[in-house]
Amino acid sequence: MTARADEHRMERKVIVWTEETSSTNDMLRQRVDAGEHIDVLATRFQTAGRGQGGNKWESERGKNLLFSLCVQPQQVSAREQYVLSMAVAVGMVNGLRTLVAGAGELKVKWPNDIYVDHHKLSGILIENRLRGTQIAQSIVGIGLNVNQQVFVSDAPNPVSLRQLTGRDYDVEKLLENLTETLFDTISQTETENGRKQLRQTYQELLYRRGQMAGYADAEGTFRARIHHVEDDGHLVMTDEQGRERRYAFKEVTFNIKYNPINKRTMEKRFNRILLKLSGESLMGKQSYGIDPERLADYARQIKEVHDMGVQIGIVIGGGNIFRGLSGSQKGFDRVKGDQMGMCATVINSLALSSALGAIGVKNKVMTAIRMEPIGEFYTKWKAIEAMEQGQVCIFSAGTGSPYFTTDTGSSLRGIEIEADVMLKGTRVDGIYTADPEKDPTATKFEEITYKEVLARGLKVMDLTAICMCQDNNLPIYVFNMDIVGNLKRVMAGENIGTLVHN
Ligand code: UDP
Repeated sequence: MTARADEHRMERKVIVWTEETSSTNDMLRQRVDAGEHIDVLATRFQTAGRGQGGNKWESERGKNLLFSLCVQPQQVSAREQYVLSMAVAVGMVNGLRTLVAGAGELKVKWPNDIYVDHHKLSGILIENRLRGTQIAQSIVGIGLNVNQQVFVSDAPNPVSLRQLTGRDYDVEKLLENLTETLFDTISQTETENGRKQLRQTYQELLYRRGQMAGYADAEGTFRARIHHVEDDGHLVMTDEQGRERRYAFKEVTFNIKYNPINKRTMEKRFNRILLKLSGESLMGKQSYGIDPERLADYARQIKEVHDMGVQIGIVIGGGNIFRGLSGSQKGFDRVKGDQMGMCATVINSLALSSALGAIGVKNKVMTAIRMEPIGEFYTKWKAIEAMEQGQVCIFSAGTGSPYFTTDTGSSLRGIEIEADVMLKGTRVDGIYTADPEKDPTATKFEEITYKEVLARGLKVMDLTAICMCQDNNLPIYVFNMDIVGNLKRVMAGENIGTLVHN
């Protein structure tokens, strides 16, 4: 079963890594039963791991932490065994707190999943062995999403540390730190006072505690507020009718759906769009900067489609303020110039955010470069969650890297947020055989393939952006955004521009 195992000793705890196993809990139990001294067994790949409820824990090889601890609790009676569950959950939160800081709120979803906001970061499965009325051995299996970037299973809401923070982690180092914190926290179960403390912290960390939210039990769905978890692990909640409900594990499920957006009856062509606006058009009649009238027009148009229930992500350029390439022609260092350009897009994004806010459209600015409190550091998951809750997301600072444009930034974000289409608002009404402002014989395409755009050398967007859309099948719709009402016309299905597709 074990392809390769390497072993090293920490201060006290013995951590063993194995390449692959069907279940770290089973393997650890067998090896400990066979007389080995192992405190933690971790694997790079689990072939048949169990999550609670028989769900498989989805984990790409080598990307995440899948491990089990062997604990011999000294003072925990069978009656009190749930305190171990509490200790492990609290221990995980303690171990993850500084890593997750700023990326979301760490919570424990009853009985012991670790959540960040509404996403599952870690799952725990504890198997106890009794001797008389005491717990003799506890095998604690933990799955923690670390470096995985894409989850393909139908698990509703996984998230990894990498997705939350944009960083890659050394899984072995992370395990060493977590092991220390976990054993430390678990050792609190040895005293009466420690157990009391753990129970209290666990209650404070409960996901959705005190909030009215949706659940389902054998009789159907209902809304209730979590009150507390009893010492034996029962979940106690009060429903909308004021009735107290008490559940054992698996008797109730959490309905964790993002707030369904308030869909109006109006027919719409796309559900989620990425709208690309050029910085240059924000100038309006001016020769530099932001024209407040144009800005307000854009905001009103966006509100119209937002009111239709469309989920909207926006990328704005910065060409009305600064372009890296023209800067470098004037002697600026190119990278610094591009960074100035990216800052220009942040300025435009803030202006649009403010204009949207002024007419009652909830929105948030996200940045590709960390710059809280100006905007939230971008992650796909936060963006999607916000859009599903009805907020417009403005993605600023392009890709966060020099030598790109906001066209590429919008292809990237459009693909990431799984937009149905990228709407490119320009000052012409589509793609022509030649520049219609210069050549009166130019004719307009109603639709065109990416391949033909490339073959004809048409300047729709830069090559990187076109190729990304082509490779990832994101259609582009080019239309004139400067005519008020056009955005809504596009959404209602009118063919007023050009569609680029595969
Ligand atoms: N930029 C960048 N990386 C990005 C996006 C933008 O370096 O991912 C810089 C680049 O210097 C660019 C400027 O930001 O010239 C403004 O963006 P862009 O030219 O795309 O704005 P637009 O022409 O759409 O107004």
